[in-house]
Amino acid sequence: MSDGYIRLIPTDLNWQPTPEAATAAVAYVARLFADPGDSVEQVDHEFYDRVTLIDAGENTTRITCSRCDGDVDLEWFHDLIEEQGESFDDLAVTVPCCGAVVPLDSLRYDWPVGFARFEVTALNATRARYELADRELADVATLLGHPVTQILAHY
Ligand SMILES: [Zn+2]
Repeated sequence: MSDGYIRLIPTDLNWQPTPEAATAAVAYVARLFADPGDSVEQVDHEFYDRVTLIDAGENTTRITCSRCDGDVDLEWFHDLIEEQGESFDDLAVTVPCCGAVVPLDSLRYDWPVGFARFEVTALNATRARYELADRELADVATLLGHPVTQILAHY
């Protein structure tokens, strides 16, 4: 049984909301999946001390280099995360394709990933239209106090 996550993150990778705003955003997202026939296993939020990879799990199947347009070996990416974890003081890495030093958030991921110090997560949410609509993202942004984007992850 695999898990699906909707991960809502601020568009600014260093930005964090107040705890009150985080709680309000979680309550709002939980209500989005509260109609009859809809469901969600858990809605929660997480603050991170450092900039953290908000990955998309198995949804990411290809990464290309922002410098040389070459393929970045997925194995290299997974090894990097395994070795140094998902949190970063500095996103700059030396990519294997061309040896350039580029920030991880400049690489092109075939399925969006993000980098953030805060997220709201919804686990195994089900409804007719799975992901959040633009209007709903705008509501979350208003509650948090900063624009947000969504990462759809699958594990
Ligand atoms: Zn390259």
